[in-house]
This record gives sequence, structure tokens and C-alpha cells, in this order.
Amino acid sequence: MPTVRRSFARLLNPSTYSLSKMAYLREVLATRVGEFIQLRRDIHRHPELAFEEHKTSDLVAEKLAAWGYEVHRGLGGTGVVGTLRRGGSNRSLGLRADMDALPIQEETGLGWASQVPGCMHACGHDGHTAMLLAAAQALAQDAQFTGTLHLIFQPAEEGGGGALRMMQEGLFERFPCDALFAMHNMPGVAAGHLVFRDGPAMASSDYVTIRVHGTGGHGAMPHRAADPLVAASAIVMALQTVVSRNVDPLDTAVVTVGAMHAGQANNVIPALATLELSVRALRPQVRALLEERIKALVAAQAESFGVRAEVVWKPGYCVLVNAINETNFARQVGINTVGAEHVILNGPALTGSEDFAFMLEQVPGSYVLIGNGDGDSAGACMVHNPGYDFNDDNILIGASYWVNLVRAFFLH
Ligand SMILES: [Zn+2]
Ligand SMILES: [Zn+2]
Repeated sequence: MPTVRRSFARLLNPSTYSLSKMAYLREVLATRVGEFIQLRRDIHRHPELAFEEHKTSDLVAEKLAAWGYEVHRGLGGTGVVGTLRRGGSNRSLGLRADMDALPIQEETGLGWASQVPGCMHACGHDGHTAMLLAAAQALAQDAQFTGTLHLIFQPAEEGGGGALRMMQEGLFERFPCDALFAMHNMPGVAAGHLVFRDGPAMASSDYVTIRVHGTGGHGAMPHRAADPLVAASAIVMALQTVVSRNVDPLDTAVVTVGAMHAGQANNVIPALATLELSVRALRPQVRALLEERIKALVAAQAESFGVRAEVVWKPGYCVLVNAINETNFARQVGINTVGAEHVILNGPALTGSEDFAFMLEQVPGSYVLIGNGDGDSAGACMVHNPGYDFNDDNILIGASYWVNLVRAFFLH
């Protein structure tokens, strides 16, 4: 790591950074960007759900191989890693894009709308893949550097934990990286603006199922039953106090009960009520506190109603923490790429989650957001909405950022 740190320090000195070369590469990218907009729309027409990104990963692998990358397939099922080794340096860098779509019926009416019923690129992963591919071509054909570059195209970011699966199958043992970076588009932020953040940036996300077991009976004789529906209702209300009364007001936490299922008829007291929760935090300590308090509160509530409650805690993504040095480095690359007036130096944390967080637990790095459009612009439509579309103007900007980041990282 010391050599990496030294390189970051040099990047912060503008005299070591060739702006004319950067402008040249941006021109090279600009002449080819039309091709990558078409490629993005092609991926958009043929979306694939988590771990089913077969055609998308074929396309990625084929392009990378054609440009001279060593291509490794099969990690996490459909994951692809493209490696470019140049010169004698033993330093290595990883850039990650995600490839999966969502189970949403597209309603954009665009010429490149999804041709797969009930499946859509509603989170812009088509754009992330296209941006990294545009950068991959420029880096292979036009950039000089010495070091090892790993481009990681992962499956199943949307809840499936594709990043974790690639890691469990040996991603960083086979492709060690000194630092790691990723990018996600963000509707509501001006198009092409880059948003950086130090430290915790995206929340942990846990899935919790609470089953309240009572004793079913006749709706006319509640005293002969133990009603799980009333107990579950009390649990929902009591859960509202976890964030407001147990979490430090200066910390961030979310406890959302998104589903409640019980009963079928007005005159039947059911035997079972089920709640589904989404639980989020921005610090591991808060995440642990939420688990402890929710379990204790549910048990006590159930006891007070004479029913039994079972809490099934399924850990989801961990807190995404941007490393300070790598974020400083990425921020400076961002400023050099789009100009300080288009960079938000330290944006707010988000309560959304992202499985790049698992990668950042092992390798220091930084996750940047790129504005998809704000105000009344088309790009302002939120991700996961049937009207969402990735802003193609960002392909050139995102690819330029990647190319500049790689060149700066491998400065020597
Ligand atoms: Zn998403
Ligand atoms: Zn996404």
C-alpha cells in the first residue's frame, strides 16, 4: 500500500498530471461514444434478472477479449473479470460494474424499451456496464500505464449479493486489487455531476420476518382464542419506538414494516400473523442495536398478549464505507474530469444499500454517484420506477472518469 499512497499524493499535485493527455483521451472517447450508446440500448432491450445475465456477460466477455483483455468467466455464475497487464509494476486496480435488471414491467415507451415482459433495466446497470466497456476500449487501445487493471462485471446487485458470491468464489484471491472503485447513477442530481462521500455512504439492509403464533378461533368468541393479529398490530406500533427512542438522534436508522399478512375472513381469528421488515443503519453498532432491540421488543410484546413470536433475521448487505484516501484520490480525478463546479465534494449518505459494500470491506476504495438528471428532465425519474431510463449523456462522462482514474492510479 505505501506505493499507492505515494501515487495519491502525487496526483494531488497538478504538475504531475497531464491535462492535455486527458483531453486527448476524452476526444478519443467522444468519437466512439455513439457505439456505446447503441450498446447500452441493446443491453436495455434485453434485460436479464440476477444470476441470469447470460447474454449480457457473453457480450461483455466478447468485447473485452476483442480488445486484448484476459477474460475470466464463471465467478458468481455469470460474473466476468477482464484483466489488462501493462509494464512491470506490481500494483493493481479494480473497477466494478453491475449487469442485472429488475422484475419490473417497463412503461417508458422508448424505442429501446425492454423486449422482455416483466423485466427491465430500471436501475441503470445497462449504463454502468456500457460506461465501463467504453473505458475498457480506450484503456486497451489508447492509454499508457504500468500495472494490472481488473474490470469486474458482477451479477445480481439487486438483492442477490452477486458481489459477495464472486468474493466467496475467490475473486480477490485470483484477482488481487490494491484499490477498488465503482459508480452508480443517481436521479435527482444534475446530469453528469459527480457526488463523493467520505466514510459510511450507503446503509446496511437486513430482512426480518416476524411470525406471531396465536390460537385460532371463532370471531364471536375472542376470549377462547389468542389473537396473533392484535399482537402483530401492537408489535408494528411498538417497533416505531426503536428508532425514535433507542437510536442516538444523531445516527441514521430505518425500521420499515413493509408487509403484514393475517387472516382471511371477518369471523375467524387466525392462528398466524406475519410481518416483513426492512431494517437499515449506517454504522455497524447501530445495526447491532436495532437487532437487539427489535428482538427484545417483539418477545415482550408477544408475551404480553399470550402469543409466541418468532423472529427470523436474514442479514442483507453491510454498510458501504468509502475509504478516506481512496475517496480523496477519486474526488480529485472527478474534479479533473468534470470540473469542480460539477462535483459535490461530500454528499449526503443514503439509506439505500449496495453490495459493492462487501468488496469495500476487503479492499479500500470508493463509490461515486453520477447525476442522471434533475428538475423536470427525463433523467430525474427515480430508479426502480417503470418510467426510468439511464441518461446516455453520462456514458462519455463516466467513461472519461474511469480512464482518468486508471491513468492517475498508475502514475509513476
Ligand atoms: Zn437498484
Ligand atoms: Zn442499482
